[in-house]
Amino acid sequence: FLNSFRFANTSNLSEMQRSQTDSIDVKVDSILKIMTLEEKVGQMNQYNGFWDVTGPSPKDGNAAKKYEDIKSGRVGSMLTVRGVDQVREVQKLVVEESRLGIPLLIGFDVIHGYKTLSPIPLAEAASWDIEAIKKSAAVAASEAAASGINWTFAPMVDISRDPRWGRVMEGAGEDPYLGSKIARARVEGFQGKNLDAVNTIAATAKHFAAYGFAEAGKEYNKVDIGTVTLHNMVLPPFKAANQAGVSTFMTGFNELNGIPVTGSEYLLRDLLKNKWGFQGFVISDWASIEEMVTHGYARDKADAANKAVKAGVDMDMESSSFVDELIGLIQTGAVREELIDDAVRRILKVKFLLGLFDDPYKYCDAERELQTIGSEENRKAVLDMAKKSIVLLKNENNLLPLKKNGQKIAVIGPLADDSNSVLGSWRIASEDSSGVSIVEGLKQYTGNELIFKKGADLITNKPTFINELEFNTTDKRGFEEALSAAKAADVVIMVLGEHGFQSGEGRSRTQLDLPGVQQELMEEVFKVNKNCVLVLNNGRPLAIEWAAEHIPSIVEAWHLGTETGNAVAQVLYGDYNPSGKLPMTFPRNVGQIPIYYNHKNTGRPVDPQPGANMVFWSHYSDIENAPLFPFGYGLSYTSFNYSNLNVEKESYAVNEEVQISVELSNTGDYDGKEVVQLYIRDLFAKIVRPVRELKGFQLVELKKGESKIIKFSLTSEELGFYDQDGNFTVESGEFEIFVGTDSNASLKTHFLLKE
Ligand code: BGC
Repeated sequence: FLNSFRFANTSNLSEMQRSQTDSIDVKVDSILKIMTLEEKVGQMNQYNGFWDVTGPSPKDGNAAKKYEDIKSGRVGSMLTVRGVDQVREVQKLVVEESRLGIPLLIGFDVIHGYKTLSPIPLAEAASWDIEAIKKSAAVAASEAAASGINWTFAPMVDISRDPRWGRVMEGAGEDPYLGSKIARARVEGFQGKNLDAVNTIAATAKHFAAYGFAEAGKEYNKVDIGTVTLHNMVLPPFKAANQAGVSTFMTGFNELNGIPVTGSEYLLRDLLKNKWGFQGFVISDWASIEEMVTHGYARDKADAANKAVKAGVDMDMESSSFVDELIGLIQTGAVREELIDDAVRRILKVKFLLGLFDDPYKYCDAERELQTIGSEENRKAVLDMAKKSIVLLKNENNLLPLKKNGQKIAVIGPLADDSNSVLGSWRIASEDSSGVSIVEGLKQYTGNELIFKKGADLITNKPTFINELEFNTTDKRGFEEALSAAKAADVVIMVLGEHGFQSGEGRSRTQLDLPGVQQELMEEVFKVNKNCVLVLNNGRPLAIEWAAEHIPSIVEAWHLGTETGNAVAQVLYGDYNPSGKLPMTFPRNVGQIPIYYNHKNTGRPVDPQPGANMVFWSHYSDIENAPLFPFGYGLSYTSFNYSNLNVEKESYAVNEEVQISVELSNTGDYDGKEVVQLYIRDLFAKIVRPVRELKGFQLVELKKGESKIIKFSLTSEELGFYDQDGNFTVESGEFEIFVGTDSNASLKTHFLLKE
């Protein structure tokens, strides 16, 4: 039917439209011309497919309505339909039964892999390895695309300074510069060079905007931030995604300064579509159009649809507001049909770019599905990414790397042999599947004797994406045997932290400790054996001050996906030298939040006068004020030395490139990699600038004993900033430069920027 539509209708088009060189815009317009208003509005509607679309007649009433809507062309996209059979089935309904047979976009949350899972996005960010991150997104795309999916709701590019917010696991952390590089890499990884290829899918930059600044880290909460923070901290990764050609943007659930972002004409139409020239389309978040009623921003569903479409939302995810209300709004003259045409053009364009009009079933290839998903090659890629994501936080007494022979190793902790938790949150296609647990990974090193004792459970109900988790806070019956194993061991490896489903959407916390009885277990174990290695599993920074003080070696292993155990074992045994760096500050306690490296000075001195008994400076009087681990922090089994930081000239013209060099030497006993980080400070400007801002980094590999000169150049793009009106400016004046191993880098130089 689709074929007959294509040929029948193109034969009615003009010479130019028929020609092979027709631009997509012309093709889109030719379709638009023959669409009824109802069909146009249908393209702007997306339903979820958690219900069975393949049954002869879906049972529940809502599902039956959706089924009818799909058949009659009132749906432009489905989400969470997956697998070639299911996708083919639903695609067939549209292609064969609806009048125009316009193929569906099949959207899915491919967040960190589809079935072969990569580390959670925050962990990947800790690699600072842009090429590896891009590759990881490409692997995810290839698996999803082999399973019928042609569009992912990723990357999430929300910057956040609040680890209480559960969705920090899905982002790239607290820094807009690192976040922008990663946003670009992920978009390029998912979309490839050619969206039309069968192993690439359309990407989504979400959640536009400022969702990561939810007050108090409480999910869906309001956001109150000024224009300076919005433009300098929140928007850069979105801008980078747009520049990388991302196909779609998703709005958020939050309001920003009183306006739900789904209804924000400023963000969606003025900024994104007009100022940035975004060519793709905007989708709401799940029911976020209708939720504007609950926010108290829209009177009713019709008003919500009206506000969303005017603001610039092109597709409604799951609230039916567009499909139910837009026709009425046009008939009464409340909404102009041009707005609908613009939205439909954008949606059809993405369908053309994906090649769906040429073959709506191109992503439904059972053979490819079989070959691609879980392939050797994909497992190798996610293992590589997992190793690169690990951060060595502490290694006193050189407990690590472990000796390979003749040791008695006790592995303790509720997460040590959990093959499900390691997969992390947001993996809808793999809810109940397994990865390699840490115990399984360690077992492959057979030269040592390995004893595993869990010690206690972490969760008492079935951990799932949807369930509220319940924690074991009382049952310590397993402590005794764990302690005797610890006592008898040469080295104890404790695997503690958060369950994989403890972060993600709707998973805010007020405490950032080790949940349940884990802290107590750790302290008891440490009493009987001081040779402890703590392996952390978590989806956010944790406040683990006691551990940082007492436990000699700490390895941040996040939730590393399918190959977790293999990656962790290789790092613990020194077959891989860790090089990850924290993409988010670790606080000492929750009261310090928000705590982030690129903060500003107050008017008071940063430290009390030496010797002065003076309380009137900006600090908390009840704790040490520095973070537990700063942004950019991470160790290696080898050691690095920085020297000879040089800026080529003392002063530069505003448009000149500033050239900087530094010498890096591997002074330790292992070959290794180091992320060389460059921070700037604009000392005086028309708006107050942060004390440090990351403006360059390089991942450098050095053999032991080797040295290298590392070069950076800074342009006005790095030296400028957005002022209170959101305008980008570069000001003359003095800049300081810091280069080193983390955001506390102490090598320092400076230069002048002149008009
Ligand atoms: C999330 C989005 C996600 C969507 C579809 C929403 O609840 O906020 O990030 O893409 O669901 O699953």
